[in-house]
Amino acid sequence: FQDIEEAENLYNGDWDKVRLLLGGKGANLAKMYKIGITVPPGYTITTECCNEFLKLGGKFPQGMWDQSNEALRVVEKMTGKKLGDPNYPLLVACRSGAYKSMPGMMDTVLNIGLNDKTAEGLCKISGDPRFVYDSYRRLVQGFGAIVLGLDDEEYEHPLAQYKKKYGFKYDNELQAENWIELTRQFQQITKNISGIEFPQDPIKQYEMSIKAVFNSWNVPRAIQYRKQTGIPDHLGTAVNIVTMVFGNMGEVDSGTGVAFTRNPSNGNKEIFGEFLFNAQGEDVVAGIRNTLPISALNDQLPGCYKQFIQECTKLENYYKEMQDVEFTIEKGKLYFLQTRDAKRTAFARFKTMVDMVEEGLIDKKTAIKRISPSDVDMMLHPQFDPNVLKKAKKQGKLFGKGVAASPGAAVGRVYFNADKCEEMSKDGPVIMCRPFTKPDDVNGMFASKGLFTAEGGATSHAAVVARQFGTPCVVGTGLVIDDEEGVATNGKITIREGDWVSVNGTTGEIFKAKIDTIDVKLEDQKDLLKILGWCDEFCAQKGTRNIKNGPNRGLMVWANADTAEDALRARKYGAQGIGLCRTEHQFLGDRAKYLRTFIMSEDKDDKKKALDKLRELQTKDFEELFIAMTDLPVIIRLLDPPLHEFLPDLLELTREVYELRGKGQKDEEKETLLKQAEQMHESNPMLGLRGVRLVIIKRELVEMQATAIIQGAINAKKKGYNPDPEIMIPLVGHINELKELQPEIDEIAKKLLKKNNTKIDYKIGTMIEIPRACLVSGELTKYAEFFSFGTNDLTQMTFGYSRDDAEGGFLLKYVEDGILPCNPFQSVDQIGVGRLIKMCVDEGRESKPQMDIGVCGEHGGDPKSIKFFSDAGLSYVSCSSLRVPVARLSACQAIL
Ligand code: ADP
Ligand code: MG
Ligand code: MG
Repeated sequence: FQDIEEAENLYNGDWDKVRLLLGGKGANLAKMYKIGITVPPGYTITTECCNEFLKLGGKFPQGMWDQSNEALRVVEKMTGKKLGDPNYPLLVACRSGAYKSMPGMMDTVLNIGLNDKTAEGLCKISGDPRFVYDSYRRLVQGFGAIVLGLDDEEYEHPLAQYKKKYGFKYDNELQAENWIELTRQFQQITKNISGIEFPQDPIKQYEMSIKAVFNSWNVPRAIQYRKQTGIPDHLGTAVNIVTMVFGNMGEVDSGTGVAFTRNPSNGNKEIFGEFLFNAQGEDVVAGIRNTLPISALNDQLPGCYKQFIQECTKLENYYKEMQDVEFTIEKGKLYFLQTRDAKRTAFARFKTMVDMVEEGLIDKKTAIKRISPSDVDMMLHPQFDPNVLKKAKKQGKLFGKGVAASPGAAVGRVYFNADKCEEMSKDGPVIMCRPFTKPDDVNGMFASKGLFTAEGGATSHAAVVARQFGTPCVVGTGLVIDDEEGVATNGKITIREGDWVSVNGTTGEIFKAKIDTIDVKLEDQKDLLKILGWCDEFCAQKGTRNIKNGPNRGLMVWANADTAEDALRARKYGAQGIGLCRTEHQFLGDRAKYLRTFIMSEDKDDKKKALDKLRELQTKDFEELFIAMTDLPVIIRLLDPPLHEFLPDLLELTREVYELRGKGQKDEEKETLLKQAEQMHESNPMLGLRGVRLVIIKRELVEMQATAIIQGAINAKKKGYNPDPEIMIPLVGHINELKELQPEIDEIAKKLLKKNNTKIDYKIGTMIEIPRACLVSGELTKYAEFFSFGTNDLTQMTFGYSRDDAEGGFLLKYVEDGILPCNPFQSVDQIGVGRLIKMCVDEGRESKPQMDIGVCGEHGGDPKSIKFFSDAGLSYVSCSSLRVPVARLSACQAIL
């Protein structure tokens, strides 16, 4: 192409495709030229050439060399110089430039075209041999390192020695004769180590550099970087041949710099950059000399500075995004060498997006599209200072690594059981460390700032609860944890009860150290709140179906919350309902004994008393929950988990009883308990007596819970609030299960309301988490007024994986080896499980078009899954309260 517009026309203005072909650097250089920003003349060899070159095993594709030379002729004409001409030598840079910037991963050769003769010529024109031989030695050095693959140290080391010998501190103190000597020396080094003479022929330099830059696509660090950032291997790099401009032409009016058009840490609207006089190339980033703030330019070259600021503004106005630029000033003339969209902290991301909307530079939709879910995440969790983390690692304080289950930073003294954590938390922050967690540990989890476990995956109990309460958590560390002794070890380092540890739930790392955190508060995050508000607006305007709020809106975001306190937080985070209140969490701790009595006791009176007590406690819980969520729907699920979770530990009990028997003793109570526990023991409790099955068998639970829910609502209403209760029956697989329970619950509710002379709208619905339920969803609508997908169980049962076993075990390997594209418990399997979901939605809505259908599984907080749920036409996703802001963004992005 002669002109960037030709490329854009070819792709109908699709800038992304232009960048795929020309690389980001090349496309933006051409664009900068087009919009009137000064860039040195040059041209781009496409990524297609690179791919073809690599395919051909290192040969230029047909016609490329000729076309490249043709373009070179144009540049020569524009500059009035010629590659290799001793009188008017053209020097060029040969620069890599891929579709996505891979900072520092690939190569660039500067000052191509210098040899002994052109150097002399250039001395004559410039009258500045110091500059010429500084450039020449840079070429020899760059050529050796990049084209011939020598270690850069082979040059840097002798240079350092040379400086020492002659008492120079910085490179810019060296004079012409020093650089002449070093150029010779560098040429000798090149020859000695590589066996190849530094080529005097500029064409040869140019040809070999292009090849080297092509090949740099496949150097190990570039491959590694692509792997980590998900950039595909087949894209290739473009090569940019750009006329050299010289920042190393003196201390007064030449130099080179890098800058951001806004502050990349805090987003403030101020140019932020660094500059060096009399320097070239990577000098600024390499830290060879102390750089100056960009304002130094204003002091020394105010004209240049002014122009620079203007052009930065021009760039921002054109790209409508914060830019990160590289520039050089040659004898008072400013050139831009590169521009790209700037990387910045999450905080700066929100600030710049809000500012740009308010400046009228971009619209709200554009702003929302440019935010990533992880930006939102980063804003909400206390964080470690990355520099301090780095230092801790250097000092060997990294203790363990596991699955990053719940993000954030936590610091405290470590304890190894829940009660101890609770006790010690009164004295200061604690971290809980467990081999694995069980529901009984919940008091410890509440008391702890963070936790980590040896076993379990990202949806293990510990992880789910931790996420729900925003507790940083790392699971599956594989550490050896002896909770009785109160020690844990990784084989090298040991931690003991009371030691300070730091848990980084964002990266999955645990440190044996007290690392300081930086706190964040939602109400302080004005820019974040503003953007989430815009998201809600868009969701409310258009999108898929939600009946309650009109037929034309996007996905709503609800939260999973068990207590009023948690519900209030969810509301603060913007939840528009509670999609799942897990009642079993109300049976933990002190209350476990009542449930246990109800289940185990053979005395009818005791049983009834226990049940009465539970009813009383739950009624109060629900009343508080409804008050907290007044005006918004609250879905309460009937008791769900396998019964054995509330029973004494069978193994332990057996051991105790047999020990006693061995001593010839017999504890009647324990003997009975053991008999009952044995009777109720299941070999596969996840597929056993749980969910709807449990409440059908233990029928009194239905009456107790339904009464508590409706009575709680009545009490809230009497106090002037507006409760909106929905009762959810879990784990239904057959219509008859609903047929058995729904009328009973309905009757209890009606009676209670009548007795209290109150009117409250309530709903009875079902969770969809067994594949069979998806297959018969049309039928289920006869008794269910709403559906809510429990995607964890649905995934578990559809795949036939036991979640807890799979995540800590084979699933890791499955994902690593690519047998599965991703962990289906983290991001919903759209092809299989997703098909069941769609089927269920379609059939359900066919028989009951007005019905609310949501998701209350862990997937409800996963951005990729949210997109799928939105497309599938669901009404809402419900996730743990800390995920609500992320979900609000994702729900909006799904419909933009
Ligand atoms: P990267 O992609 O690693 O940033 P570049 O191709 O941008 O590599 O080159 C690195 C540095 O070399 C630039 O920041 C700039 O300082 C210098 N450079 C590149 N091209 C030229 C040029 N034509 N004239 C002067 N300096 C250049
Ligand atoms: Mg660069
Ligand atoms: Mg379930």
